[in-house]
Amino acid sequence: MKFNMDNKILIFGHKSPDADSICSALVMEKFCKNQGIDAEAVRLGDINKETAFILNYLGIEAPRLINNIEDGQKVILVDHNEFSQSVANIDKAKIEIVIDHHRIANFETAEPLYYRAEPLGCTSTILYKKFKENNMPIEKKEALLMLSAIVSDTLLFKSPTCTKEDEDCCIELARIADIDINTYGMDLLKAGTDLSDFTAEELINIDSKEFMKNDAKFQIAQISTASIEDVLKNQSDIEAAMTNFMNQNGCNLFIFLITDIINSNSQAIVLGDTALFEAKFRSKT
Ligand code: MG
Ligand code: MG
Ligand code: MG
Repeated sequence: MKFNMDNKILIFGHKSPDADSICSALVMEKFCKNQGIDAEAVRLGDINKETAFILNYLGIEAPRLINNIEDGQKVILVDHNEFSQSVANIDKAKIEIVIDHHRIANFETAEPLYYRAEPLGCTSTILYKKFKENNMPIEKKEALLMLSAIVSDTLLFKSPTCTKEDEDCCIELARIADIDINTYGMDLLKAGTDLSDFTAEELINIDSKEFMKNDAKFQIAQISTASIEDVLKNQSDIEAAMTNFMNQNGCNLFIFLITDIINSNSQAIVLGDTALFEAKFRSKT
């Protein structure tokens, strides 16, 4: 067993990282550095096309890819808390800080920590508030990273998870970054909808999360598109990939959400134990 005595803190979002997971990690790195804390944003998987668009726009590199961490590694989690969505050996880490906007589940630490959760549309909205609370100036680069994460998570303010706070903060960030939020936002969302070169297996992995409920394991994946119809042309291939994934991962239920970013509606393909789906999701709508 190798113990990490290095003081550097690693910051990361969830597996199958979306724009918020990458952008918020990078912004949190800046926040730490401003406070004299040695920290590095890293990632737990390939970047998606939206994130590639953002990094390319800024002319910056993606954070370093990691697959596991050393025992005792100090970490900061952004945009997730559930261990099933984190680095493989997260239970061996020393979690210092969590900044998140999701439910809290399957999460436990041995020691006290700083935990900030708010029911907002995006982790970056919370980070924006942290900068404000600490009287830290926000530079153009961080403004663009944060507003991009908000656009991505809220589908340019159209998602049901978007709050007034997300929108107000995004508009203020657009002012700092000196961009037109609607033009940039649509370009960013469109960059994420080019699915032409993905196989069915890749499609179900672009933005995919594992959840545990009692003894049941379920997977929720989501893709953005300009045409749900186009995606459904490959429905049989997608269903085969989903079934294969469930068999390989001992997964009880797979929900694949296809979101139309132009008309902001979604359609789902649900496979597996649909009774579980009824119990977990129908009751909430
Ligand atoms: Mg996310
Ligand atoms: Mg998020
Ligand atoms: Mg997402």
